[in-house]
Amino acid sequence: MENTEKQPALGARIVTFANQKGGVGKSTSVVNIAASLGILGKKVLVVDVDPQGNTTSGFGINKKNIAATVYDVLIGRTDAHDAVMKTPFENLSVIAANISLAGAEFELVLADNREARLKKALEPLIPEYDYILIDCPPSLGILTINALVAAHGLVVPMQCEYYSLEGLTQLMTSVKQIKKRFNPELTLTGILVTMYNGRLNLSSQVMDELKKYYSTKIFSTAIHRNVKLSEAPSFGMPVYYYDKHSKGAELYHAVAGELIERI
Ligand code: ADP
Ligand code: MG
Repeated sequence: MENTEKQPALGARIVTFANQKGGVGKSTSVVNIAASLGILGKKVLVVDVDPQGNTTSGFGINKKNIAATVYDVLIGRTDAHDAVMKTPFENLSVIAANISLAGAEFELVLADNREARLKKALEPLIPEYDYILIDCPPSLGILTINALVAAHGLVVPMQCEYYSLEGLTQLMTSVKQIKKRFNPELTLTGILVTMYNGRLNLSSQVMDELKKYYSTKIFSTAIHRNVKLSEAPSFGMPVYYYDKHSKGAELYHAVAGELIERI
């Protein structure tokens, strides 16, 4: 008979960070939230699904020197387990990406089950982690679709700019389609305002508008501009390890705590 008192292992919550616009802070958010989750005692796997590999290099991994990347996993050449790389950061592992992934967009078009390849590949890893965070390229192509089909939750990092709301509406339309066709479980975990400047009138106007439509979905911590956040990647480390006392480290640490409450 089964031991009913034993708590079943919950397994990882998979959270995808997506926004089809580039330069909005997706990779910065993934790197720093992952680091903070690790410091908070969560076992974390980051999956870089952007051929630019900014998240990969943000953890100090040399993009030219990767035994197996997410590309090898997506085309079925490597088991996901074998692509996991340990990092020097607490509780934090990575499946890395580099420019080889650029070909996947094309190759996957003809593959079977092309939308659910990442989901399938990550399934055996779920029992081993508390959180799996996925970073996306700045498009709504097959790589982002794979990341959304694999996810339980979606975090949208966005800047408070005039066109951001239009982009958000477009993204949410795509999410609705993915939910309907491939992944009914997919939920908007939260919208993370990045590079916020409260002194700019436009920032606060867009923020007001955003609150009107997405009130409860907005992370209560907004990420302000902080130079340490832009310096840390060139040292190959998350900001918490680069300058623990910086504003950037403090804000992302708070967001990580909030993420744990949200999913
Ligand atoms: P994305 O992944 O959406 O393309 P990134 O995370 O790479 O965006 O951020 C774009 C650029 O802005 C990077 O050079 C990054 O270092 C910088 N950056 C991101 N967030 C901040 C911030 N809060 N303060 C200062 N610079 C930031
Ligand atoms: Mg990026």
